[in-house]
Amino acid sequence: MQRRQFIRQSTKIGLAAAGASAGLVGCAGSIQEKPYANISKNNPYGYFPVKASMDRVINTVVGLRPFRTTGYRLEAEQLGDTFIVHNYGHGGGGISLSWGTSRQAADMALQQNPKSVAVLGAGVMGLTTALILARKGISVTVYSEKFLPNTTSNIAAALWLPTSYYDKSEVSDAFLAADKSISREAFKGFLPFTNRPDYGVYWNRYHLVLQNKPEQPVQLPGGNDLYPELKETTTDTLFGMPFDRSCQGLIIDPNFYLEEIKNDALIAGVKFVPKKFDSQTDILELAEKTVVNCTGLGAKTLFNDEKLMPLQGQLTHLLPQPEINYSYVVPTDTGFLYMFPRKGAIVLGGTTIRGAYSTVPDMELAKQMIAGHKNLAERLVS
Ligand SMILES: Cc1cc2nc3c(=O)[nH]c(=O)nc-3n(C[C@H](O)[C@H](O)[C@H](O)COP(=O)(O)OP(=O)(O)OC[C@H]3O[C@@H](n4cnc5c(N)ncnc54)[C@H](O)[C@@H]3O)c2cc1C
Repeated sequence: MQRRQFIRQSTKIGLAAAGASAGLVGCAGSIQEKPYANISKNNPYGYFPVKASMDRVINTVVGLRPFRTTGYRLEAEQLGDTFIVHNYGHGGGGISLSWGTSRQAADMALQQNPKSVAVLGAGVMGLTTALILARKGISVTVYSEKFLPNTTSNIAAALWLPTSYYDKSEVSDAFLAADKSISREAFKGFLPFTNRPDYGVYWNRYHLVLQNKPEQPVQLPGGNDLYPELKETTTDTLFGMPFDRSCQGLIIDPNFYLEEIKNDALIAGVKFVPKKFDSQTDILELAEKTVVNCTGLGAKTLFNDEKLMPLQGQLTHLLPQPEINYSYVVPTDTGFLYMFPRKGAIVLGGTTIRGAYSTVPDMELAKQMIAGHKNLAERLVS
């Protein structure tokens, strides 16, 4: 199927979903076998339940979030005659933070007044940094071992919510202050793409439900004003849980978004060259003497970064349900269960195992995860 035709069809499905959620199921005809969207005690928004079953699984994937206890590395260093700006280690928040840290990394590189810049890595950080620099008129070459769709960035879930990229006990107030303004900048960066089907960035209602009401009022990353319709309640909660914090949040579907910003980068003149860097000597041999390092977890060996480690996460994709326009995170005894809807799949997560390097899916875990989501779905219609 031609890409444009596919996008047009996705848009039509999106519109049908909007009709369904507005209670127009009868008009939409065949999109929903059974209209479950009844408002009830456990389902105050009248959401449709996720059809969580093994026979609806498209695939299960495992990704390694590049995590540093002290937060991402965003700084420059001189290495021989090469000026290197580091932009890596964004843990579980790299898609969200991309427009924030990449703008700062690009600004640091621009201070050298370079004619040409090498960007190492072609995940979300490399692509965003390259795009920003190319739009400033710089000749940019992206060198990378792997390209779309084979980067960690392709695996991300991804909700715009910059979290899970530092340990609070390890970061300074100065880092947190700078991070707040980076998060705000990053959020603004996504707004031009919202509700444009080609970029796959769209609003949905996001819920974090908890067993207890937090003692302190919420301070969400970047500031509460970045989360429209933010609401906390202990009555009329999703799944009938004791506490429900919800807001409008941006879903970013990496399968659409990354391809589109790569296209934007190509249009801006960025060149892409396959190359694996085995040592810093390989970097020093590049013709470009201004380099931005966006190698994610690859920076661990390349720059001997002992603070960098994987946060392994497994996701299962189910067949899409266009009628689902909400997402949730629910804590469990062993971690979290989360669900994010995309045009092409329902994404179920989410595990987080620090220091685990395997990218082989654990199908027992996938079964347990699906059982957990099935249980939640049943609560919506009970
Ligand atoms: C399960 C899961 C769920 C997630 N959910 C979210 C979410 O909801 N929201 C969110 O914001 N983020 C989420 N993330 C995190 C996000 O995916 C990462 O933070 C982000 O993708 C990191 O981007 P990156 O460009 O730094 O790294 P990558 O995407 O890993 O790109 C690194 C690039 O560097 C290249 N490279 C590495 N080493 C070398 C080398 N030696 N030589 C040449 N090239 C090299 C690689 O080939 C690759 O192209 C999630 C991640 C996972 C795994």
